[in-house]
Amino acid sequence: MPPAIRFDVVTVFPEIFGPVFAAGVVGRAMARGLVQLEAHDLRRYAHDRHRQVDDVPYGGGPGMVLKPEPLFEAIEEIKAHNSGPVILLEPWGERFDQGLARELAGEPGLVLVCGRYEGIDDRVRQAQADREVSIGDYVLSGGELAAMVIIDAVSRLVPGVLGDEESLAGDSFAGDELGHPQYTRPAEYRGLRVPEVLLSGNHKEIEAWRRAQARRRTLARAGAPRPER
Ligand code: SAM
Repeated sequence: MPPAIRFDVVTVFPEIFGPVFAAGVVGRAMARGLVQLEAHDLRRYAHDRHRQVDDVPYGGGPGMVLKPEPLFEAIEEIKAHNSGPVILLEPWGERFDQGLARELAGEPGLVLVCGRYEGIDDRVRQAQADREVSIGDYVLSGGELAAMVIIDAVSRLVPGVLGDEESLAGDSFAGDELGHPQYTRPAEYRGLRVPEVLLSGNHKEIEAWRRAQARRRTLARAGAPRPER
């Protein structure tokens, strides 16, 4: 059976993906064949014997830019077996959120292209990319962490990946409301008690309490002023 979703990542650091996804939800989904992940070493597509994938920016300025040829060739090779959209990770891209994660989880695969240094030669965006995605308004040193965030958030939305579908339904952003507070044993720890209603065994009251708490959290966040910086 083919995987439900396949991630192909283009990166200069392919070795960092294995350890991150060796365990946990995505690791289990990979072991079960539901999710497939391959990190491709961009340097394999370099043209010179030093395997150089970057060069100085036209027009001057500091740093290096990822060259177009290795990226074009890597993406074209991957496209032969991954029909999903090609996504460039970029700080100025459209903002990744749960809605976009849901949309991407419906794809057969994603091709995630990680920039480094000063970024990616813009011709890759012009000719090869379907969309550009950012995980937030800050600048990372590379696209790898952003790709990992997307792989994790998208994978858990693929049907069958989470063992207990309930945990998806109760997640923050799954519906209109954020998740409610959770507690586990012991019932009291350092003077902090678990709310009595959760110990009552009354499922109707527990459900009502959870809904009220989720509502409170949602309203608090919606109305919360951004902290001064
Ligand atoms: N000079 C670029 C700019 O200001 O737009 C920033 C380059 S950044 C140091 C190197 C790479 O990290 C980018 O090409 C991109 O792949 C990745 N990156 C940085 N911040 C990101 C973010 N917020 N979301 C997704 N990718 C990001």
